Amino acid sequence: MPGYVIAPPPVSSVPVAGGGAFPVRRIFCVGRNYAEHTREMGGDPDRELPFFFTKPADALLTGGADMPYPSMTSNLHHEMELVVAIGIGGADIAEADALNHVWGYAAGLDMTRRDLQNAAKKEGKPWDMGKGFDHSAPIGTLIPASASHPPTAGRIELKVNGVVRQTSDLSKLIWSVAETIAYLSKLVALAPGDLIFTGTPEGVAAVTKGDLLEGVVDGVGTVTVKIV
Ligand code: MN
Repeated sequence: MPGYVIAPPPVSSVPVAGGGAFPVRRIFCVGRNYAEHTREMGGDPDRELPFFFTKPADALLTGGADMPYPSMTSNLHHEMELVVAIGIGGADIAEADALNHVWGYAAGLDMTRRDLQNAAKKEGKPWDMGKGFDHSAPIGTLIPASASHPPTAGRIELKVNGVVRQTSDLSKLIWSVAETIAYLSKLVALAPGDLIFTGTPEGVAAVTKGDLLEGVVDGVGTVTVKIV
């Protein structure tokens, strides 16, 4: 025993459909992975390689728990995303082999303090405090990859208070799940427990206290969160 001088931190996890929990190591997120969202954020979808940012594992919000409206922002945005859970690690993973590294999939939200992110972009500063804050990663239950076909197509949609805010199709991902895993694994060695938020379609907008967010990825699952 190493003789920890404080209690070791708890392990973050995502509930699995049918029981059990998936322990989470790191959370990677893809920026601008749908063409229409790239355009709404002022980018050019034809000329960008995928890029990544991270959230801490303990930013996860599970079990349909309420999300407290975060501090230091007046422009909290929703980003509805397909989430990939890595079960088998590896570096330099071949695209053709990439889906064999996936344990499962979930529906998730990359909640964003857009005002802080925009200020950081303008000043060439890191995005961390705009993206990786407490409770910034609501996520539904994880479905094992073996129980579903690889989600290469299917509706991805978010309603706020019953009104559709974001709707698109997974086939519109600029970088597919397999391509994303292959490329990310060149930058870092992926490990069991890593999550990848694969990017959001167009329609991102602000939410306020009292709003109910209901997201769905067809064939994968749902994510529900109330802002309080
Ligand atoms: Mn995102």
